[in-house]
Amino acid sequence: MKATGWSTHPSEHLKPNQISFEDGEAYIVRKDIINIFTDGSKTEHGVGATFCVLTNDIWAYQWSAKLNDNNNVFQAELTALHEAVIYASHMPNHNTSKIHLDNKASIMASSNSKSTNETARKIIKILLSNPRIKVFCVKAHAGNIGSERADQLAKDATQHGQPYSHTKLPKPHIKGLLRKRMLEEWQTSWKNGDTGRKIYNIMPSVSLRPTNWIREDVIFFSQHGPFPSYLKRFHLSDSDYCSCGGIATALHYATECIYTVSWHMRKPAPNFEQEWLKRSPVTSSPGRKFVGLSNSFAKTEIFFGLPAFNFPAS
Ligand SMILES: [Zn+2]
Repeated sequence: MKATGWSTHPSEHLKPNQISFEDGEAYIVRKDIINIFTDGSKTEHGVGATFCVLTNDIWAYQWSAKLNDNNNVFQAELTALHEAVIYASHMPNHNTSKIHLDNKASIMASSNSKSTNETARKIIKILLSNPRIKVFCVKAHAGNIGSERADQLAKDATQHGQPYSHTKLPKPHIKGLLRKRMLEEWQTSWKNGDTGRKIYNIMPSVSLRPTNWIREDVIFFSQHGPFPSYLKRFHLSDSDYCSCGGIATALHYATECIYTVSWHMRKPAPNFEQEWLKRSPVTSSPGRKFVGLSNSFAKTEIFFGLPAFNFPAS
């Protein structure tokens, strides 16, 4: 879910110098300045987030974590920044904390009070109540030791970091999971259902891709069409017999009725009927051949008098 609701009062703003896209002069050695370098990384091993603390020319502290493999690198960068501002907010008040990172996107998100990103909003809240925490943008791969160290630690964290589960999974990933679950449920009910079995036998697997069936394919394969056998089933006709005396199914007209001989296809052996119906590609399938037969229905008089020909509006 998107984070909503104003997190800040309109009168509250970050101090103008609190977030900067300029370099933060990380290497001035002073006891009261804490330099924190953050980074996030995504590799084939996983997703890592880290920050490391340089104060008075000494590496004083470092934090790193391994996120869920499905988190993205932006989430990793933002998580690192969030943990860094939490750390900095616990520093004594006379200190200035300078956080350095090379990810503009997370700096932008964290300076936008209207952001819908939950982590970015948490960062903003902390920054608002801690004006002595400042955030600076460093050039990526510019060879400064702080960001190189953070970069290395984040890469290590993708493999060896402590598992960290506070960062929610990204929306596309959740959508993918839901789609997969939905397809599984659909497949189960399609498999166990008791209607539409003729189509099920031809198409046992559900799919979000449309079939390229034309109208005649649908009529032929579903056997829902102007055939007495279908009409009787749905109480639209009293008889399921063809004028020739056979049971009037689509297959009957397509393979054996004496009135439709010129449209006949070779009737498959009963054992092979499903295979025959499944035959691909669609262009050579019985359904396509059925087009001619189905068109001839309109021209011939053998079906004259059947209520059949005009489809019931259903
Ligand atoms: Zn017939």
